[in-house]
Amino acid sequence: MRPAYLDNNATTRVDPEVVAAMLPYFTEHFGNASSVHASAGRVGAAMASARRSVQQLLGAADPSEVVFTSGGTEADNLAIAAAIGALSGRDEIVTTRVEHAAVLACCRHWEQEKGIRVRLVPVDGRGRLDVEAYRRALGPRTALASVMLANNETGTLFPVDELASLAHDAGALFHTDAVQAVGKVPIDVQAAQIDMLSLSGHKLHAPKGVGALYVRRGVRLRPVLRGGRQERGRRPGTENVPGVVGLGCAAELARARMREGTARMRALRDRLEQGVIAQVERCVVLGDRDHRIANTATIAFEGVDGDQLVRRLADADIAVSSGAACSSGMVEPSHVLRAMNVPLIAARGAIRFSLSRDSDDSDVARVLAAVPALVRFLREGSAPWRRVQPQGTIPPGDPNKTLPETSQACL
Ligand code: PLP
Repeated sequence: MRPAYLDNNATTRVDPEVVAAMLPYFTEHFGNASSVHASAGRVGAAMASARRSVQQLLGAADPSEVVFTSGGTEADNLAIAAAIGALSGRDEIVTTRVEHAAVLACCRHWEQEKGIRVRLVPVDGRGRLDVEAYRRALGPRTALASVMLANNETGTLFPVDELASLAHDAGALFHTDAVQAVGKVPIDVQAAQIDMLSLSGHKLHAPKGVGALYVRRGVRLRPVLRGGRQERGRRPGTENVPGVVGLGCAAELARARMREGTARMRALRDRLEQGVIAQVERCVVLGDRDHRIANTATIAFEGVDGDQLVRRLADADIAVSSGAACSSGMVEPSHVLRAMNVPLIAARGAIRFSLSRDSDDSDVARVLAAVPALVRFLREGSAPWRRVQPQGTIPPGDPNKTLPETSQACL
């Protein structure tokens, strides 16, 4: 029996078609894209074709708006660096409490290095952005608003069209970390008026170590790396040609398979979720059930140590992630669950099931066969633990005072 892999928000399997597309660029066409002879222009042509494929997936106006990077983290860092000092008199960034570490840690860096003020917009109990608070946070000093398109832990989708428009009304640039959304929801950067968008290959069946930043024409990028003229000087360094070719192929496949793949994932995800809820007492689905990506179900099991549940499921060859990480002997909920004020007793038992277009009925059946019994078993074992642990909610604190420490549970 193959393992049930339900951790696709952490990473996806590289599609066999993607592997096949990449192989010749390791073996035959291995030249440096900058060399004149590079397989008689074959390498440059393959890069150009991949750029067009990414452009089309995003609905961008021109292929030159796509800058290849080493992944989502680098794309986020480039976007934020671009905004620092780009607009005179603007030294603030507006972002959310539930961004990935690639955004939050980068903002924290600029806060410490350059005194950039970072305003963190809160979310509600379902992980939905407080749009009024976002509107209030924007102002004449905002250089950049950065809001993810889909949250990696709950799958909750944010209304980036509206948020981009509000950022522009305030004269600021708008960036979205779309790492978890690309390939799962249709994106049109022009219609949504997005200035910059980050994506990552390994979340859409391309390899790890390749990604891209969409940069609308007219927005000036300040390179983070210094070096040669690759990517028009915006991202120096010899290009990861096989990776880029793989990303291009994955973008094509995502475009061709999105509609059908998403419908299938949603049906499987809903069956998994409903099956678990029907069989397990005291569990709750986290996130905005009406507005979320089709592949993600995050379920909090009250009175269960999520880390233990993930390990027990791994023993049964079922791969999932926990929304809590063990630190110093305590099970700490992720910064996302803390921002949502999920009660501790539930947050500590939050499990993320994330599907892909490879998922099938047998994956769901395996979860439904294993989870109820394991939850029962762990609850029986955890009765004394529950007596000594605090069970209240986490106090929200001042959203603008400190940047939340991002936790390990931020894949
Ligand atoms: N942003 C989000 C929302 C993510 O989920 C991730 C990866 O988990 C990243 C950024 C980082 O992407 P990468 O792993 O390609 O650096």
